[in-house]
Amino acid sequence: MAQRRPVTAASFLLRNTRLVPVMPATPTVLPDPPVGIPLDVLVIDGRVVEVGENLPRPPRANEHDADGRWLIPGLWDQHVHLDQWTQVSQRLDLTGTRSAEEVLDRVVARLRVGPEGPVLGWGHRSAAWTRQPTVSELDAVTGDRTVILISGDGHNAWLNSTALAWLRLSARDTVVSEQEWFQAYIHLGSLVGDQGTSPDAYRQTLKDAAAKGIAGLVDLEFDQSLSAWPEREAAGVELLRIKVGAYIDTLPEFLAAGLVTGDPLPGCGPLVTMGPLKVIFDGSLNTHTAWCCEPYAVGGGKGAPNLTPGTLRVLMTHAREHGLEAAIHAIGDAAVHEALNAFEQTRATGSIEHAQMIQRADSRRMAQLGIRASVQPGHLLDDQPVAELFWPERTHRCFPLRWLYDDGVQVVLGSDAPVSPLDPWASMAAAVHRGKDDNEPWHPEHTLTVHEALAASTHGFGTVAPGHPADLALLESDPLPSGSSYEQAQALRAMRVAATWVNGRQAHYTL
Ligand SMILES: [Zn+2]
Repeated sequence: MAQRRPVTAASFLLRNTRLVPVMPATPTVLPDPPVGIPLDVLVIDGRVVEVGENLPRPPRANEHDADGRWLIPGLWDQHVHLDQWTQVSQRLDLTGTRSAEEVLDRVVARLRVGPEGPVLGWGHRSAAWTRQPTVSELDAVTGDRTVILISGDGHNAWLNSTALAWLRLSARDTVVSEQEWFQAYIHLGSLVGDQGTSPDAYRQTLKDAAAKGIAGLVDLEFDQSLSAWPEREAAGVELLRIKVGAYIDTLPEFLAAGLVTGDPLPGCGPLVTMGPLKVIFDGSLNTHTAWCCEPYAVGGGKGAPNLTPGTLRVLMTHAREHGLEAAIHAIGDAAVHEALNAFEQTRATGSIEHAQMIQRADSRRMAQLGIRASVQPGHLLDDQPVAELFWPERTHRCFPLRWLYDDGVQVVLGSDAPVSPLDPWASMAAAVHRGKDDNEPWHPEHTLTVHEALAASTHGFGTVAPGHPADLALLESDPLPSGSSYEQAQALRAMRVAATWVNGRQAHYTL
């Protein structure tokens, strides 16, 4: 194995910091705010060991002066596609386009000035366009160059004929979506080269996340082999805690290594551990493939599951028997309902990923079964217009964070980056205000308070206390601002992070 980098000191004394009151994962009542005066926090060997006034500095510990800044547990993003997020910065940006014509304009501009080789675009959302794009119109502007345009929710791609042939997909005049696209996506890397996923690119991605106070994330990238993270660590990519998810295709490899959820990955340091088995049970709103109890108002159909409920049970039983949590992607209310049936019958543990539209009764059931809701509030900003179009009479059941919270479900937040940006402050802001800019919030009855949004972002850790891992974020302003929900969301979006420590080591530092 490659030689490991020497580690920076994991012991230090942080002076004069204000501890932010944060609810733990199983809230009873909000803890009393620690005394209003700044305190010292002592970290030894990656753990918080003491909190108090005027603590003496042990000889081997460094000292930092927080100068009254605010301290919270390090933040987590519970749903990231890290490879895709790392690549997105290298891709042709198609976000904000409103028609096939606008996308084609950007493609033409890129072909005129951009480097040779395949063009990868990202970020258009065609569901609300007046018509769907065609392969022939893309061919007409690209000629033989390989062009692949991935939609902003990652569930379909608009390819030209050269790209279709190159990925061994059958000729057609429509986009490639869902399972067919996921399968093709797996082969993309080997065809287009690393496309910006070098160790340097990864290191930068993790540094950018640490600069937002992120201490850990769940990496649910597709088709990630067991060796991917050990190789990255050997190349020096080691900064944040990473939980690595397995998919059906890669599961045998992880099981053969005897890994259960929480185990360190072989060949990695303590930060990289085994995550859940991820199963994509239904599709997405934008592609009409989220599985619903009622038909879509536009386009008809109820969507469909990607696998039968029976197969889901087999997989979840398998996961439970091997000590793996299950993370079940379920967006439509029928998918959420059936996934909960499967949790109940298999006694698997884990999370529903997205839970974008649900029935109230299923929110209560999720609480009874102890299944987490892993929600990406950033999606509600993007999906609002399409949800109003496709599910007009159901929008009061979309992203129902208030139901989930009040029913006692453990809610955890994430980005699903690159679908929304890897930015926990943007996620919290969307949960707190549910609207872009100063727009009226969308179903404000489902907003979370800032206390709740913060608690849903700290991986279950409440107010920093002795015994916690030294995963800490030091903030330039109070993360529990007062004001209207809009003002609070603005303050969260503008948050600046002075320092982030992971396992007691500096991951970001500006003091
Ligand atoms: Zn995802």
